[in-house]
Amino acid sequence: MHIPFVDLHAQYLTIKSAIDKAIADTIKNTSFIGGAPVENFERSYAEAYEAPYFVSCANGTDAIYIALKMIGIGPGDEVITTAHSWISTSEVITQAGAKPVFVDVDEFYHLDVTRLETAITPATKAIIPVHLFGQPVDMPTIMSIAEKHGLKVIEDCAQAHFAEIAGRRVGTIGDAGTFSFYPGKNLGAYGDAGGVSTCDKDLAELMRMYARHGALRKHEHQMEGINSRLDGLQAAILSVKLDHIHDWTKARQTVAGLYDELLGDIDGISIPRRRSDTSHVFHLYVVQVDDREQLQRHLREHGIQTGIHYPTALPYMPAYRYLGSRPEDFPNACRNQDRILSLPIFPEITNEQVEYVVSTLKRYVRS
Ligand SMILES: *Cc1c(COP(=O)(O)O)cnc(C)c1O
Repeated sequence: MHIPFVDLHAQYLTIKSAIDKAIADTIKNTSFIGGAPVENFERSYAEAYEAPYFVSCANGTDAIYIALKMIGIGPGDEVITTAHSWISTSEVITQAGAKPVFVDVDEFYHLDVTRLETAITPATKAIIPVHLFGQPVDMPTIMSIAEKHGLKVIEDCAQAHFAEIAGRRVGTIGDAGTFSFYPGKNLGAYGDAGGVSTCDKDLAELMRMYARHGALRKHEHQMEGINSRLDGLQAAILSVKLDHIHDWTKARQTVAGLYDELLGDIDGISIPRRRSDTSHVFHLYVVQVDDREQLQRHLREHGIQTGIHYPTALPYMPAYRYLGSRPEDFPNACRNQDRILSLPIFPEITNEQVEYVVSTLKRYVRS
C-alpha cells in the first residue's frame, strides 16, 4: 500500500467539474488580476468566516507582514512569537524592521502563556500567537496579557482555518488574523494565496491599500506599499473549495479521532493533547516518539509518507544563530524537535489507510 502524506489530486477529483469550470470561466473573462473572482472570494470568505473584513493577498507570509506593518510595527520594536512555527511567522518581524523575541511552547505546541510576561520589555509592541497544527492557542489569556501591556495581537491562522476557541473563530479575536491558502493548507489554492481578517475597519482599509501599492483607486497612491495580490484563478478555485471546507474539516476531525482511538494506548507513542473548549481542525496530526528517524524510515519502507513540522525550532535555525539561543532557553521546543512526527492526514484518507498506518506503526513499536 502507498499512503501519501496529503493527496491533493484525490481532492481535485471530488470537485473536478466545478474547478475546471471556474478555471475556464476565469480565463474566458480574462479576470487574471482583481475583478469578480477576487471580489467574490473576499466577500464569501468574510461571510463564511463571520469576519467583518477580509483582505486577500499573495500568500500567508505577506499576510502577516502586511498586518504587522499596518498596525505600525517598525525599527526599535520587539514582537513576541512562538519558538515552534514555520519561519514565515518570525521572518516577517525582521522584514518589518523589528526584533523577533521567542517564547517556548506548552504541551499543545503553542506559545506558552505562562512564560509570555517575562518576555515583555518596554520595546514590545505586538504578539504573534500561532494556532499551530490546527489547534487554537489560549487566546483569552493572550488577550488579557496584551490588554494589560497595551500590545497588539496578530493571530497566525495559516494552519487553523475555521478553528474555534470558546465559540469564537481564530483570526477574529486579536487585532488581525492571517491566513495562508498554500495548496496543502486546510483551504488550499492551486498556487500561492493568502489573506487577513480583522474586525477593525480602518486597519482593513490600510491593509488593502498597502497590499496594492498604497492605492485604493488606480493612480491614487496615498503611501508606498507593496504588490501582494491574490490572482483571479486562485480566487476562483478557492471560492469553489470554500463550499466544502466544513465537510473537509469534519473529515479531518474524524480521522484524528480514529488515530486517537487506535494509538491511544500504545506505549512509546504520545498522541496530540487537546485543549478543552476548542475545536481543533487538525491541519496536522503530530505524535511524539523516542526514535523518530528509525520509525520514519520503517514507515517509508512500508509505503507511508510522514512529515516533520518542524525538525529545527526557530531559535536554533542558522538564521537566528545571532540570537545565541541555548537548549535550556527553550527546553520544550528543543526536546520536541527530535521527537515529533506528522502522520498522514487529509479529508480523503480512508479508514483502511489509517488502520494500515497504525498497524505498521504498532509492528515497529512492539518489535
Ligand atoms: C504556511 C504557513 C505560513 C505561510 O504561508 P505561505 O502562504 O506559505 O506564505 C505562515 N505561518 C504558518 C504557521 C504556516 O504554516
